[in-house]
Amino acid sequence: MRELLKATAERASLYLETLDDRSLAPTIEAVERLKNFDVPMPEQPTDPARVLKMLDELGSAATVASAGRRYFGFVVGGVLPAALAANWLAGAWDQCAGLYTLSPVAAHLEEVALKWLLDVFGLPAEAGGGFVTGATMANFTCLAAARHAILAKSGWDVEAQGLFGAPPITVVVGEHVHVSLLKALSLLGFGCERVVRVPADPQGRMRLDLFPQITEPTIVCVQAGEVNTGAFDPATEICARAHQGGAWVHVDGAFGLWAAASPALAHLTTGLHNADSWATDAHKWLNVPYDSGIAMVRDPRHLTAAMTANAAYLVHVDKREPNLHVPEMSRRARAVEIWAALMNLGRSGLADLIERNCRYATRFAEGLSAAGWSVLNEVALNQVLVSFHDDDATRRVIAALQADGTCWCGGTVWRGSAAMRISVSSWATTEEDIERSLAAILRIAKAEAQR
Ligand SMILES: *Cc1c(COP(=O)(O)O)cnc(C)c1O
Repeated sequence: MRELLKATAERASLYLETLDDRSLAPTIEAVERLKNFDVPMPEQPTDPARVLKMLDELGSAATVASAGRRYFGFVVGGVLPAALAANWLAGAWDQCAGLYTLSPVAAHLEEVALKWLLDVFGLPAEAGGGFVTGATMANFTCLAAARHAILAKSGWDVEAQGLFGAPPITVVVGEHVHVSLLKALSLLGFGCERVVRVPADPQGRMRLDLFPQITEPTIVCVQAGEVNTGAFDPATEICARAHQGGAWVHVDGAFGLWAAASPALAHLTTGLHNADSWATDAHKWLNVPYDSGIAMVRDPRHLTAAMTANAAYLVHVDKREPNLHVPEMSRRARAVEIWAALMNLGRSGLADLIERNCRYATRFAEGLSAAGWSVLNEVALNQVLVSFHDDDATRRVIAALQADGTCWCGGTVWRGSAAMRISVSSWATTEEDIERSLAAILRIAKAEAQR
């Protein structure tokens, strides 16, 4: 065991050390070589060292170097050394984090991490929370709590009776709601098309002048960090109007909520603490390994009511029981890495990570604008949208940049036009990486413009 783990640590270290010297996307040859995995399942056992060797030799080269310093695709963080190391140790522990009895350490670290997170986000200390796979499941978990609370008010037990015959609930979302929230709505029986969509302003924020009159029973879904622009819905006003009408306000803050960790950026999150539930990701901006998200609910009773399952053998002790806060029973101990990341960074380190990424995004925007390209969003957070004249040219620049391999940016469609999307989310990115990536983008854009 020891030799195997040591050798694996060696392989993993080498992988990370060489990550920034290779192209961000795997080469065509490396992807081709994945065919070597296509063999019948062996009849006989394979030595663990050989299993690892095969995985490294075929697998490592066919990864996307998204843990590297110049990956600006989607909203993908890297992995902090402390979080990766914690992940390895927790892997060795092999804890089932569902029950306190099964893992006091996993359960305890959930409590500590949750307390720290609520504090970092400026949310009520008494809120409940659960550790899930990502913002999709965090949205799902929070909306299940909302569904419970709203229907309980009308005397309907949704966990027992389901939605058939229940009083209909209105769900209000912004025009630019994230697809994962719509998916959560459909999983919960709300239907993803049976929603009221509030038109957006040019940054993708809900327009208050077109916000509907709210009457019970309603769930209003606010977004903190639009996935293209990074814009925040006007939470103070929305919460006030929604609560006046007796609605539940849920916040999808997959990455945007983390702005609260920076004194310089916290103003973006003003009013979010007035909501009733909040979903966020840890694998994006906290830079912990996949998969990791957090669901937080102001009144923990609604969360546990929606998530409770009981059986005689599931002994519940007089402590916070992890499984009463999430959809899963057995699961890995995600809070271990979250705790390790927060412990490692401290408040100042976390603020610095968020601020640095936002500063780099601003630098990208300035450099692109100075070269004459159109930056399509107000860069207030870590997201930059840029267009290179027309849709075709923009798509060509994205493809050429991805092929070039210096850095990786994805594409999107913003208000009907093709755009390149730059998201700066990694702890490891340096100023030098930004200058090098900016130079590559400008070089490629210029070449494409001259074609
Ligand atoms: C990424 C993202 C999600 C989905 O998060 P997953 O971790 O992929 O499940 C939801 N909402 C927003 C705004 C996001 O950026």
